[in-house]
Order: sequence, then structure tokens, then C-alpha cells
Amino acid sequence: MPNTLHVDYDLMTHDESEKIIREAMEKARQVIPEGKVADYIPELGKADPNKLGICIYPLQGEKITMGDYQTRFTIQSISKIISLCVALEIFGAKKIFEKVEAEPSGEAFNSLVELDLNSNKPYNPLINSGALAIAGMLIEEVSFHDMLRFSRELCSDHDIELNRKVYESEMSTCSRNRAIAYLLESKNIIESDVEDALKFYTKMCSLDVTAEGLSNFANLLANDGVGNITKKRYLASDTVRILKTLMLTCGMYDGSGTYALEVGIPTKSGVGGGLMAVSDKRAGIGVFGPSLDPRGNSIAGCRLLKEISRKLRLSLFFDSTYLGASRIDYSLNQRTGEE
Ligand code: GLU
Repeated sequence: MPNTLHVDYDLMTHDESEKIIREAMEKARQVIPEGKVADYIPELGKADPNKLGICIYPLQGEKITMGDYQTRFTIQSISKIISLCVALEIFGAKKIFEKVEAEPSGEAFNSLVELDLNSNKPYNPLINSGALAIAGMLIEEVSFHDMLRFSRELCSDHDIELNRKVYESEMSTCSRNRAIAYLLESKNIIESDVEDALKFYTKMCSLDVTAEGLSNFANLLANDGVGNITKKRYLASDTVRILKTLMLTCGMYDGSGTYALEVGIPTKSGVGGGLMAVSDKRAGIGVFGPSLDPRGNSIAGCRLLKEISRKLRLSLFFDSTYLGASRIDYSLNQRTGEE
């Protein structure tokens, strides 16, 4: 197997890719002071804002790892992908989208305005209201321990545990999520026990993961749900398609549009500083950088992904087909001067 990052039009060596990533890390570090760590969950406020790590796991070739890629941090909103993934496998898409829409919300991740004013359903499963609705469905079928086991399997990381300190810290400050959950109950979206759904949701957010584990999960999604090494199918192709589509359109909250334009890789962020990015058919990427931008996305992580997406051509919308073609004179550039 060639020692390359798999971009089918480019036989860039592992060393060349590593150099590009090292330079991107340096650029990304410079924006760390412009962000700040989340502190609305008090325990998250203790994170070191200067941490930054990445693991890129290509479908072909070796992993590229840098910085704090093995540091543990809480998964937070990236767990919404795991919960949705399990829910899709158990209930199927039809049942899920009877409860939750699949539209970008344009509001903050923990908003309840659009839920109360504009719609009776949460906008999508990747914001808090949508994920709480999914939690309400899941608790009737699976235990938290089952979810822990699935999470370990999906991330190929058997050391994932519940971070009790973060869980308790969030449970003691989660009035807003509790309000959303009761609003969902009033609209018959949550039909199970509301407090149990809230605890389940918060426990899922408090799983301790690493950037490397997220890259393993992302690699599985980049490979249509089939294990890169085992060649075993873990997830239905349709589940994977839905996850990637929602990550692209809704994964970065109300910053999803600009992010799609600048990075073009389906990604999910979490306020613990994690990013999980799926460069389809190319690589799974996990990033950790707890200093956040005002929308709650890792500020250095987004910068890092923007840099490497361009340089390694990892965006979904880069196409290799005409890469070698000489520049074409598009007729759009030609003006005749006629009226
Ligand atoms: N546990 C967090 C919350 O519900 C997750 C938010 C996030 O990561 O964006 O507020």
C-alpha cells in the first residue's frame, strides 16, 4: 500500500502531507486567543485553551497525528451523531423525521425560539432540541450502557468512559435544556419520561473521547459504514448518507453555511472543543481545540480544517477530473461590447 494520504488525483507523500498539516497547525494556533473555552458548563471552563491536536485517518495510507490528539475531552454535541446513528438503525428514517425536521435552524444550538414560534418540531437532530427528541425515543429501546458500548465500537476506543464531573456539572446548570425538553413534552414530541431523556442526553454529551477516536468514527463514515480494516459493515449505507448530509447542512450550528463554503467537509462540532470531519471516500478527521468562536465551534480547529481542506483538497466540492486541464476561456469572461 503506498504511503500516501489518499487523494486519488494526487500522490502526495505522507511526509508532504505532514508538512502541510504542521504549517496549518502553526497558523491555527495564532487564532486561539481570539476564542474562549465554554464556561456555561462550569467544569468545561477548566479546559486549557491552548490545547490543539489532530488525527487524520485516510482510507488508504497511515494516520497522521499531531499535537494533543490523544488528550481526553468531552464529546458534547458530537454525541448527537452517535445518538442519531443508533436511532436511525433502530427506528428507520421515516419515524425519526416524523418527530424532527432536517432543516438548518439559523439559531444558536440551545435555542428554543424557533421551536416555540415557527414549528412544532425541532429543526434538525443536531441541535439540542432535536437531540433531546431523539433521546426521548432512544430511552425506550436502549440503555446508556448500550450506548457507551456502541460509542466505544464506533470510535474503536475501548477506554471511553462517562466523565462524571462534567455530567454532574451540566446537570446542575441545564435549566435551558430542561426547558426545551418540557416544551417538547408539551408538543408530544417527547412521549417518554422527560427527566430520563434529559439525563440520557447529558450523559451522552459527557463521554470522554480523543481526536483519534473521532477520526476512527469519521473514517467509518467516509467508508460508507464499512470498517477500513475489518471490511465489516457496521452501519447501513442509508444511515451514513443521512448523517453526512446533516453534518454538512447543520453540523456547525448557525455557522454551517459559511463553514461549508470555506471548508466543504461534513463536520460536527461540540462545545468541549471537538470536531469530527468526514472527507468522503478520502479520510476521517478528529480535532481537539477547546478555545471556541462565538457560535461554539473550535476556533483553531475550524482554521486548521480550512487550511488543510484547501491544501490537501479534502473538500467535498473539489473535483480531480479537470485538475490537469489548462485554463479554459469561459465565454462568461468575454464581453462583446454589444448592446
Ligand atoms: N451538552 C451541551 C449542551 O447541551 C452540548 C452543546 C454543544 O456541544 O454544542 O449545551
